[in-house]
Parts: sequence; C-alpha cells; structure tokens
Amino acid sequence: MGLYSHAPEGYECPFCQIVSGVERPNHGTKQCDIVYQNDHVTAFIASKWWPNNKGHVLVVPNLHFEGIYDLELACATEIHRAAKIVALAMKSTYRCSGISTRQHNEPDGNQDVWHYHLHVYPRYKDDNLYQTRSYQTEPDERQPYARKLRDWIEANS
Ligand SMILES: [Zn+2]
Repeated sequence: MGLYSHAPEGYECPFCQIVSGVERPNHGTKQCDIVYQNDHVTAFIASKWWPNNKGHVLVVPNLHFEGIYDLELACATEIHRAAKIVALAMKSTYRCSGISTRQHNEPDGNQDVWHYHLHVYPRYKDDNLYQTRSYQTEPDERQPYARKLRDWIEANS
C-alpha cells in the first residue's frame, strides 16, 4: 500500500490487468485499445469519454503506483515521454487544435481507479471539456481512434 492509499483490501487493479495483457470484460479496456507500450508505460484509449473530446488516452506506469505521492520520478519521465508521443499523434491524426493533460489523486481529487494515470485529451475550440459529462463507450466505438494513434506512433517512432 502506498502513501495516502484509498484502494480497498484485495483491490483487483484494472490497469495492472491491462498492462499484463488481460482482456477486461464488457465495456472495459481491450488489448486493442492500447496505442503504445514499452518496458515502463502503457497508453490506451480511455473507455470513458467526454462528448466533445472523443478518443482521449490514459498513460499508466507498468508498475503499480496508486498516486503522485509514491510515483517514482524515473517513471514520471517515461509517462511524459509517452504523453508527448500521444499528443503529437493526436495533433496529426485527430486534427485537434489543442491538448490538455490532467491527473487526479484521492477521492477528493476525483480519482476513481487506484493506479496512477495521466489523461491526455484532444482539445477543440469551445469544446467545454470541463463543463461536459463523461459517458461509457463501447469497444467498437474506440477502435478507429486506437488504430489512428497506433499507426501514427508506429510510423513515427
Ligand atoms: Zn495497478
């Protein structure tokens, strides 16, 4: 258990499952949602979307850290290296006019999965990201976005 931990006893971490190749049930993240993976980090299309910012990505460390408090700095570098690659891929393939990242810690910080994750959002003029409500996507809906980013990253790294 890390510093300021909120994960319940016996928590089955969904992000550790994704990193280790486990297929999540129902609407959950599938292996084909992964757009980038190396020895340190995994980046995948989020299963929860905001209506005007479709196809946003989560970057997670492959090792389990719950939040920013115990995240290793070497890992933070790798997370931002991957976020930069994803941001460039979004700029080129989504044609977004901006990029935002956000990262939540503890329930009062709106964290809802107990494994550190950095959101990378495509942004557009007047998209009202912070005023809109998220919704659960279907795996099929995510595939075109995953394919675009994965293809760009493969061709440019
Ligand atoms: Zn985990």
